[in-house]
Formats: sequence, structure tokens, C-alpha cells
Amino acid sequence: MRHTHPAQDARHVIDVRRLTKRYGRTTAVDALTFTVRQGRVTGFLGPNGAGKSTTMRMLLGLDRPTHGEALFDGKPYCDLPEPLRHVGALLDATATQAGRTARNHLTWLARTNRIPRRRVEEVLDVVGLHSAADQRTRTFSLGMAQRLGIAAALLGDPEVLLLDEPVNGLDPEGVRWIRTLLRTFAAEGRTVFVSSHLMSEMAVTADHLVVIGRGRLLADADLSEFVRDGEESLEDAFFRLTSGGGSDA
Ligand code: ADP
Repeated sequence: MRHTHPAQDARHVIDVRRLTKRYGRTTAVDALTFTVRQGRVTGFLGPNGAGKSTTMRMLLGLDRPTHGEALFDGKPYCDLPEPLRHVGALLDATATQAGRTARNHLTWLARTNRIPRRRVEEVLDVVGLHSAADQRTRTFSLGMAQRLGIAAALLGDPEVLLLDEPVNGLDPEGVRWIRTLLRTFAAEGRTVFVSSHLMSEMAVTADHLVVIGRGRLLADADLSEFVRDGEESLEDAFFRLTSGGGSDA
């Protein structure tokens, strides 16, 4: 595996081109263009309402763009032959069937995607849910639901992880755990695209940041490029970029 550092020439794993989504008069995503490269953690940062989840849903074919396209290795998600083996995603961690146990949920996903059954036990171990595997998911805390969502994302042993606000609802130990998981995944030469509204979290997790506000691209640069000549902190840089750019932050 080639180690890419600082990865300017690394392979484009995700290509987003002029991606636009309008809901009536609201332009949720406005002609966004950026790439996500292999072997690093790319943070997708913006205030609440900036358009991160809408972008993620369009990447996964769950919402149809008004214009533009989002491609994985040149193909729309829906054209990937075995999508769960290529892209693991966590959007809404509470979106499991509440009556199922964690193990049943993962077993069903594995079966419908031709993933070997033993992988269910492996991912339950990775996310630390073995002892709760036979509880119904309706009894899960948000943190446990996030862990189950991550287990589902890892099930197909994918090359790409796409996670929408994965640290929401996690305690400090869980936040640290996710951070290590994402860093390790990228260090293996795989690719992570992770959204957050917290610069402080991205500052310790991401190598590269794509920053949006009101659906528009505000910055697309390596983390090290955000601070101007040591004059400001990353947090200051985030507020400078997004002031006036978000709807409720
Ligand atoms: P973020 O994930 O950054 O918090 P979202 O993508 O959820 O932002 O939302 C971006 C904008 O699009 C917001 O103004 C939101 O109200 C609007 N929006 C998102 N989904 C819908 C929808 N299904 N119908 C109408 N408006 C929506």
C-alpha cells in the first residue's frame, strides 16, 4: 500500500461536481464541487443547516440532486455492483427497526448483501457491542445506536467510510474511540469522509477539511492551511469562514 503524504496526488475516491439540491425555495446544497482522496480523513464541516446531511444523502442515492453529480471511483453509488463492500455509511443511527436485536439487524444486513455471517461477530467486537448484541435496539442509548450504525457501516469491510455526525450522543470515551477508528482506517490506505459541526472535533480527527455554509463551498484545504500565520486558532478560522454562512449556528 502506498502511503500518501500529504496526498495531493492521491486517488480521487469521491468526486462531487456542481452538486445542487433545492427543496422548493430553499437551496440546501448549492453547486458544490470537491473531491475526497484516498488514505486520509476528510472532514465535512459546517454549521447546523449548512447542507451536510443533504449532501451525504445525495452521495448515497437517497436523495436526487437537482443538478450535478456525486461519483465513487467514477460511478454513482447506485451503480456500484456491491455497494456495502465498497462504501460503508452511517447517516441516521436511530434508523434501525426498533424491534430487532443488534445481532439480528446485522445478520439481516449481512444476508441480504452476501456478506459472510462471521463478519457480524467481528464487527460486534470492533464496536464493543457484544454484550448488548441480543438486546432490542429500542432499548439502546444514542451512543449504542451510533456504535451499531458503525458496525453496519463496517460490515462489508469497505474501502470508504461515510459518516454523518458520528460522535453525536457519544460520551468522551466513545468520541475518542471513533477518532481512533477513523485514523486507523485511513492509515490502512482507506478513505474516510465524516461530517461534523464541531471544528474542535475535526481539528483532532481530519487531515483535510471541506467547509460549507448555506450549501456553498467555503474552504477546501489541508488542516494545516487553515490557520493564518499563527494569528488565529482553528476555531477562529471556522467562525471567520462560516459567519453569515449558516442558518442557525
Ligand atoms: P446539515 O446536515 O448541515 O445540518 P441539512 O442538509 O440537514 O444540513 O439541511 C440543509 C438545509 O436544507 C436546511 O435549511 C434544511 O432545513 C433543508 N432541508 C433538508 N432536508 C429537507 C427536506 N427534506 N425538505 C425541505 N428542506 C430540507
